[in-house]
Amino acid sequence: MKSPTRISRRAFLASASVLAAPAVISPAFAQTAADADVAIIGAGAAGIAAARRVAAAGRSHVLLEAAPRAGGRARTDEVFGMPFDLGANRFTASAALMAAIADTGVETTDVPSSRRLYIGDREAKESQYEAFAAAIGRTERAIAATADAGRDIAARAALPESGEWGATVAAVLGPLGCGRDLANVSTVDLARRDVLPDDASTALGVGSLLERIASLLNVRTKARVTSVNNLGRLSTITLDGGAVVRARSVVLAVPAAVLAAGAIRFNPGLPGRFTNALVAYPAGLMEHVGFLLPGNPLGLSPNELVHVKSGSYPPAALYGRINGTDLHVAAFGGAQASEIAGKGETAAAALTSGFLREAFGATIGANVTKFVASRWSADPLIRGAMAVGVPGEGALRRQFADPVGRMILAGEYVSPDKWGTLAGAWATGQVAGEKAIAMVGGPV
Ligand SMILES: Cc1cc2nc3c(=O)[nH]c(=O)nc-3n(C[C@H](O)[C@H](O)[C@H](O)COP(=O)(O)OP(=O)(O)OC[C@H]3O[C@@H](n4cnc5c(N)ncnc54)[C@H](O)[C@@H]3O)c2cc1C
Repeated sequence: MKSPTRISRRAFLASASVLAAPAVISPAFAQTAADADVAIIGAGAAGIAAARRVAAAGRSHVLLEAAPRAGGRARTDEVFGMPFDLGANRFTASAALMAAIADTGVETTDVPSSRRLYIGDREAKESQYEAFAAAIGRTERAIAATADAGRDIAARAALPESGEWGATVAAVLGPLGCGRDLANVSTVDLARRDVLPDDASTALGVGSLLERIASLLNVRTKARVTSVNNLGRLSTITLDGGAVVRARSVVLAVPAAVLAAGAIRFNPGLPGRFTNALVAYPAGLMEHVGFLLPGNPLGLSPNELVHVKSGSYPPAALYGRINGTDLHVAAFGGAQASEIAGKGETAAAALTSGFLREAFGATIGANVTKFVASRWSADPLIRGAMAVGVPGEGALRRQFADPVGRMILAGEYVSPDKWGTLAGAWATGQVAGEKAIAMVGGPV
């Protein structure tokens, strides 16, 4: 347990000053006046980080979120009577993120950096752990060497021979790592991904934690943006229902898949270089299935991550004993995640029971009660877990770093090396906030 962080007077005053000058949303606002220096669209990790950066520079902001609450792909559900994270349930404790958390007074917990490995309902022996780790390392090096040689091909075609570990390595790096089979993943995009281990979480739930951080900002929930007009001196952002917000600069922090689906209209339209890149980065799919397994039959420490050697059942990973409770979470990717999002809890229960039975033995599966599943890819505001480059297009991710007119992009998909993570999204939000401040003429 990390020591509790209290709200300092300085932090309190900083957040109070954010709230002291709220931006206004009013259809009757004078045509020439800006409602905010910077409007941020989307209150996930990236949008929240951008808003914090703008507020810290003394510029006014409004953070527009379509959903009833902030957090985006970090969302905490209380359906089990305890926090269950439907999306991100841990994160890399970067200094910037930890500073934001400190302002809320929420305690964080360390999560075990080690992983356990099960083979045919038994825990792996030391030598098997080593063989698995060596196969992962060998595969990552082979993918990096292929990318370094300028060959942007399907990552599956670059896999070295890993014998009995081949299927498990392909599952951990593919569907379970980025939500997509490696046959549809660019070697270049995967090789550039350099993610630090997730080492922190919170008993409050990561989604609730982001909501707390957002609550110190000028956030408007249930504010779905339908169009952004950048033709005039100010950007005019229209919300569902007709209200408008005028801003001097815009940070666009909605998922790439939402932009690709055309859910927001832009005038002028998004440039071809950008829409082409969006097409080359479709969403990888991941879903979480929460369930109660009393009595700790697997002998797990709180928040342990368990991998299972691939066999006849679809691959999944297990987050055990969330915060020391009976709540466990099975994580599915790719085809199984698609089935869960499409068919809901019946499919989630069948897949999870099958996985538990085959991975840990018949008696474990029989003791499980209550399944609750996320459905990220069926959510029109999200549409998937993370944007992953298709073979041949790994170089296009850098397109997302350039501003589009007056709009600066932020989100996990914008990060060249930490895409698909909370910390990556946060970092892009900070950079976008700084660019927006520079655009409106303020000190960064
Ligand atoms: C199942 C799952 C597990 C994961 N586990 C982890 C993990 O353990 N660790 C980790 O680091 N990462 C994890 N991730 C990834 C992480 O959750 C994301 O990378 C990160 O949360 C993305 O943040 P973002 O700000 O880019 O986008 P989002 O969080 O998706 O935020 C975008 C926001 O835009 C809003 N929006 C959409 N359209 C509009 C509109 N028209 N108007 C206004 N608002 C709009 C959405 O409602 C949303 O709130 C996981 C993801 C999934 C799906």
